[in-house]
Amino acid sequence: MTRYLKKVYIIASCALFVVLAFLIYNYTKPQLDKVTCNLALRGLVLILWGVSVMPILTEEHEEIRRAVRKFTDEEIVPVAQELDRHQKEIPREIIQKMAELGYFGLIFPPEYDGIGLDYISMAIVAEELSRGWLSVGSVMTRSIITGTLVLSHGTEEQKKKFLPGIARGEIMTAAAFTEPDSGSDTGSMKLRAIKKGNGYILNGEKTWCTFANRAHVLTVLARTDPDPNKKHRGLSMFLVEKEVGDVIKHPNISGEPIPTVGYHGMRSYSLSFDECYVPEENLIGMEENKGFYQLMATYESARLQTAARAVGLAQAAFEAALRYSKERSQFGQPICNFQAIRMKLSEMASRLQAARQLVYYACGMKDTGKRCDLEAGMAKVFSAEMVEYVTREAMQIFGGYGYSKEYPVERYWRDGRVISLFEGTSEIQHEVIARRLLEL
Ligand SMILES: Cc1cc2nc3c(=O)[nH]c(=O)nc-3n(C[C@H](O)[C@H](O)[C@H](O)COP(=O)(O)OP(=O)(O)OC[C@H]3O[C@@H](n4cnc5c(N)ncnc54)[C@H](O)[C@@H]3O)c2cc1C
Repeated sequence: MTRYLKKVYIIASCALFVVLAFLIYNYTKPQLDKVTCNLALRGLVLILWGVSVMPILTEEHEEIRRAVRKFTDEEIVPVAQELDRHQKEIPREIIQKMAELGYFGLIFPPEYDGIGLDYISMAIVAEELSRGWLSVGSVMTRSIITGTLVLSHGTEEQKKKFLPGIARGEIMTAAAFTEPDSGSDTGSMKLRAIKKGNGYILNGEKTWCTFANRAHVLTVLARTDPDPNKKHRGLSMFLVEKEVGDVIKHPNISGEPIPTVGYHGMRSYSLSFDECYVPEENLIGMEENKGFYQLMATYESARLQTAARAVGLAQAAFEAALRYSKERSQFGQPICNFQAIRMKLSEMASRLQAARQLVYYACGMKDTGKRCDLEAGMAKVFSAEMVEYVTREAMQIFGGYGYSKEYPVERYWRDGRVISLFEGTSEIQHEVIARRLLEL
């Protein structure tokens, strides 16, 4: 409804603008006096002000936030700390419920069983889930990456085969891009795909493939052009189908989880491909050597979603710290009475809000079809720094208890550290942003 009113407001404003422009134009003619013109200009300023202060979030967005917040508080918050402590993966029941609620198909069109919501809604869902547990907010990142790849570059057959399952949460995916010797430098990837009959044979290594064991499909970036000088121009994107399980289940792919500091709800695997056959119809777009460019189409969405995850995680840390500062007393008074603590709370809240608005702003651009790689990069890099700051300060407010396993702030702090490392490190993000600014 609010969105409808917003549209009416914009259309009415435009109509009024035309009338006012007409009046101003006529002022140059003698029949209109100065007062009329003054009124017209004031009207114009009012309209512009009205548009500028219109909230980005609609009532529909707030509705979505309330629903996801309820789900998070009921299903995730009560179990996250215990699961993290024992390094357990996200329970299947939680993923099943997320699927039923449509969280995996938020931005995909209804014709492929998606919900067709906007990117701001996607950010809100990611934010609220990550407030409970970063890992839960991160499961959907994989569906967004593979789903966007298939939607933007897949053949109609690939869209029909994979997209509805991804949107309904029945096909889980994992991204196998990084290699042991090739992280930020995508163009140096070595995993080979050689054409054989009606398919390809994949040989080589991948690493950090998160959720690989529980994915039905691995989205694999492989080298189809043997000339290493071709760099990113020789890469292709494949959808490798496999069985799901607690370990890697594929006759030609083996792998071991990498022990990590945090982010325990999902396991990240080093993978070895040994004569792994992929039918040619699973080459995205059925086009060789387009993989890198196809991947770039997912960067905006994935970075926005990652920035939103950081905002949600920081929100959890901030809320915990705020509550604790009112409950914990020292020197005969709550610690929130001390200026040093109040300064921290104020700074945390301000940075958090700035990051959130940056995310919504970039999502708003994406929703209106504008290029937003610069803004998405800024949102990602700023949120990564923000979440480290906020989780660190939250731990500081908790004092020694913050370092214990008794409270979840230690988890927030460990989980927050990863944001600046994946989906493009902060150094690479700064480089990309600077390149756009310098128009290199
Ligand atoms: C928990 C976790 C989960 C992950 N999940 C996945 C996943 O699901 N799928 C996947 O494919 N990958 C995943 N990754 C991998 C992640 O995307 C890479 O770690 C990341 O791209 C960086 O690559 P690297 O680790 O090889 O670091 P490197 O590229 O070796 O970088 C090392 C350091 O050098 C800096 N650096 C490199 N090049 C430049 C440059 N040109 N200018 C300035 N600085 C530079 C980097 O910023 C970094 O500080 C995951 C990583 C982690 C930690």
